[in-house]
Amino acid sequence: MRKKLIAGNWKMNLDITESRELAKTILEKTDKKYFEYTDVLLCPTFVSLNAVEDVIKDSQILLGAQNLSYENNGAYTGEISASMLKVIGCEYAIIGHSERRKYFGENDEIVNKKIIKALEFDLKPILCVGETLEERNSGKQNEVVENQLIKGLKDISDLNNVVIAYEPVWAIGTGQNATPQQANEMHKHIRSVIAKLYNQNNADNIKILYGGSLNDKNCKELLSESDIDGGLIGGASLKADSFIEIIKATQP
Ligand code: PEP
Repeated sequence: MRKKLIAGNWKMNLDITESRELAKTILEKTDKKYFEYTDVLLCPTFVSLNAVEDVIKDSQILLGAQNLSYENNGAYTGEISASMLKVIGCEYAIIGHSERRKYFGENDEIVNKKIIKALEFDLKPILCVGETLEERNSGKQNEVVENQLIKGLKDISDLNNVVIAYEPVWAIGTGQNATPQQANEMHKHIRSVIAKLYNQNNADNIKILYGGSLNDKNCKELLSESDIDGGLIGGASLKADSFIEIIKATQP
């Protein structure tokens, strides 16, 4: 059985004090029994990683970064390396989020290099894929996502530590989530691509999260779909109560 994963992507929100407070509230309000079925991951900004780690270090809540450099170290001003993230306590890194693709010029080749680097340093990459509205309206969503997977996973032989997040660009931060059927169909498509690129066992075991306006109102429906293994959550992860409602929705 695939264990669920609920990941909060705090994006460029919350200063160090606010991050610490939110992590504390989430920790206090999360019933320990939820961890049996669900991993819970917080991805604050780089500057708040240490503070959040301090709060959650003796708990089962996990820490993740929103990005990393594909270089090891050296003269790369403003970059953060995988080894630095590992040392600070990160277990995951979000890679290829559509905001990074759109605003910071990350293409599939860069995304691929980052995934390889994350794995090299024992960080679990969450590879984000998803189509734009225009691509969906012209019926190209399956093709687009397949291409992102082929290119993003190039030269990666072991998928055990890789998580995929299907995040339709038109659903991120818009309040317009994919319907459970649309999301589940795409998750099945992603599994079929993984089966083709790797094998059926990998396809059956890989964790596929849904992201895009997932919130406390629509989580039950989306997260009960057969091929949706959890969520990557932006806006609704910034409020402890809505984030915890989403965690609750993964419980049997
Ligand atoms: C995200 O940040 O990956 C995301 C899905 O954002 P939101 O939940 O706000 O749509």
